[in-house]
Amino acid sequence: MARFRSPFDPASLGSASSVAVIGLGRFGASLALELMAHGTEVLGIDSDETVVQELNGRLTAVVTGDATRPDLIEQLGLAEFDRVVVAIGNDVTANILTTSQLLRVGVKEVWAKALDERHALILQQLGVHHVVRPEADMGRRVAHMVRGALEDFIEIEPGYAAVRLEVPAELTAVPLRELGLQVKHGVGIGALKRDGTWILANPESRFEPGDTLLVHGLTPKVEAFAALAARQRSRG
Ligand code: ATP
Repeated sequence: MARFRSPFDPASLGSASSVAVIGLGRFGASLALELMAHGTEVLGIDSDETVVQELNGRLTAVVTGDATRPDLIEQLGLAEFDRVVVAIGNDVTANILTTSQLLRVGVKEVWAKALDERHALILQQLGVHHVVRPEADMGRRVAHMVRGALEDFIEIEPGYAAVRLEVPAELTAVPLRELGLQVKHGVGIGALKRDGTWILANPESRFEPGDTLLVHGLTPKVEAFAALAARQRSRG
């Protein structure tokens, strides 16, 4: 039996701006809390009462229930949600059953966590709109950071990346347009952070020691540029 932990009206919550997260383990809970922190209404669902208890009051609404049950999905009006995330990981059967119910009722965007490559393939074949593999994605990201001594690395899509790094001394003082970074290194600078504030970079921007840059471009170019910047910093 599903139990509603906070008063909520499924019809009002199930709008484009709200998200349902099914499975509130480490991944699901941190995703749900991050969405809340950025103003998205979140309905959290988990079969484990203790987990639900823990998040009661921190999400817009929480429900204890087994998401593989079609009546629960109906009862909660999940069909009205534009976006539902299936964050059940280890129980692959429960993950696939829940996901297929959501697709059957016509949820516009189903995001599902996959345990491994074969699981990801099944989800894709079912028609899941976004398959995520948090451990594999994070592993790749950290590998890039470890390799290049980058402050942060995000691969926007395979092959195109953005990194955050401290400005090397060689890039300070002259305006960005004179640095020729696109021609010489194949990278662009999108923004810079100075005194705690991000501002968009433009051709006239002059970097100062201590600035943080947001560098983007093809992944190997960004990696090579970041490695060069790290070498210059260690020399300086
Ligand atoms: P994570 O990898 O995010 O740390 P975990 O290792 O704690 O997760 P998982 O097996 O991935 O555990 O499950 C995530 C959550 O999904 C758990 O809190 C679990 O109770 C919940 N869950 C599992 N099966 C169902 C189900 N059928 N309906 C609803 N929630 C479920």
